Amino acid sequence: MKVVYVDNNATTKVAEEVKKEMLPYYTELYGNPSSMHTFGGKVAKKIEEAREKVAELLGAIPSEIVFTSCGTESDNAAIMGTLECYPEKKHIITSRVEHPAVMTLCKNLQKRGYKVTFLPVDNKGRLDLNQLRDSITTDTAIVSLMYANNETGVIFPVKEIATIVKSRGSVFHTDAVQATGKLDIDMKQNNIDFLSLSGHKLHAPKGIGVLYIRRGTKFRPFLKGGHQENSRRGGTENVPSIAGLGKACELAKKNIKEEQERVKKLRDRLEEGILKAIPNVQVNGDRENRLPNTTSLGFEFVEGEAILLMLDKLGICASSGSACTSGSLEPSHVLRAMGIPFTYAHGSIRFSLSYYNTDEDIDYILEHMPGIISKLREISPFTQYTK
Ligand code: PLP
Repeated sequence: MKVVYVDNNATTKVAEEVKKEMLPYYTELYGNPSSMHTFGGKVAKKIEEAREKVAELLGAIPSEIVFTSCGTESDNAAIMGTLECYPEKKHIITSRVEHPAVMTLCKNLQKRGYKVTFLPVDNKGRLDLNQLRDSITTDTAIVSLMYANNETGVIFPVKEIATIVKSRGSVFHTDAVQATGKLDIDMKQNNIDFLSLSGHKLHAPKGIGVLYIRRGTKFRPFLKGGHQENSRRGGTENVPSIAGLGKACELAKKNIKEEQERVKKLRDRLEEGILKAIPNVQVNGDRENRLPNTTSLGFEFVEGEAILLMLDKLGICASSGSACTSGSLEPSHVLRAMGIPFTYAHGSIRFSLSYYNTDEDIDYILEHMPGIISKLREISPFTQYTK
C-alpha cells in the first residue's frame, strides 16, 4: 500500500546514513564505554565524536551536551535538576501549550506544593512577554517555555525570553524537541540555560535525547547513578543511538538551509491548495512565525478523527489536534488555550513534513482532501452547516 507519511512531528524515519552509523555498535563494537580496556575505549571515543556533532549543530561546546534517553527525560532533568539546586524557591513558570513532557510534570509539582504559573497564549498561539516579565519573582526557580509548538509549529521568541528571564535572576529552560534540525539554533547567540532535544524528531532513532546545559549553570543529576556523562546522568550510555544521533545532527547541519526552504515550499503549497479548494478552513497559529514543516488546519463542521480515518485508508499518515478523552472528543489543550472556536478545533488536523516528503506527496494529498471533506460534511451531525 502506498504510504504518504506527513506526521513527522510525531516521529521521523531513521536516515539510511544514521542506521549505517549505528550498526557496528550493536555488533562488533559492543564494549562498555566506561571500561578501562582499549575495546571499551573505542566505544567511548564514538560517544565523544557524536557529542561534538551535536554541539556543532547547536553552536555549543561539547562539554555542554548530556545524552539522555529521550526528550521527556531531558525536560524532566532540566526542571527537577534546577529545583534541587534551589530548594528555597517554590515557583515555576511555563505555558498552557507545552508538551505533556513539561505540562504533566508541572501539574504534578503543583500537587506537591509548588506554585506554577501557566502563561496563556493569544488566538495565534503567541505569548505576552510583559505578562512573563511580571510573573517572575525572587521565588521563581525556573521558567520552561517551548521553542516551537508540536501541534501548530508556532515559535516562541526564546532568545528574547532568555534575556528577560536572566535579567530577573531566574533560570531558563526551553523544550526544543520540535525546533532542532528545523530552525537555526546557535547557543552562542542566546542566554538559554537548558535546552532539550530528541533524536527521533530529526531522523535518529527513538529513545535518545540530549539535555544542553550551559557551562556554569547549576545542575543536579535527575538520574542518580554512576559517573557517566561527567556525573550529570547515571546509566550506561545507549551507544548505537548516540552514534546515530551524532550522524543525524551532522546531516541536519549540512541540509538545514536548503531543507528549510524546500520543506516550507511544500508545506505552503499544501496549505494554499487546501485553503483554495475547500471552504470554511482555517490555519491554526501564527502563520508568520512557524516551523517551516508544520501546518495545523481546522475544517469547520467535521471531526478531525474522521478526516484522519479517511486519509489513513489512502495511506496518508497525518495526526489530529484532538485527543479522545473519556469517550468525548475533546480538542487538544493547545487549541483550547488558543481559544480556537469549537467547530474548527474539533475538525483540526496537523500535517508535518520532513526531508523525505516530495511534490508527489503533496499532489496526492491535494487530490484527495476536497473529496474527503465534502463527503464528511454531507453526513455531518453539525446541523449549523449550510452548503
Ligand atoms: N517535547 C515536544 C515539544 C515534543 O513534541 C515531544 C515529542 O512529541 C517531546 C517533548 C517528547 O520527546 P520524546 O518522545 O523523545 O520523549
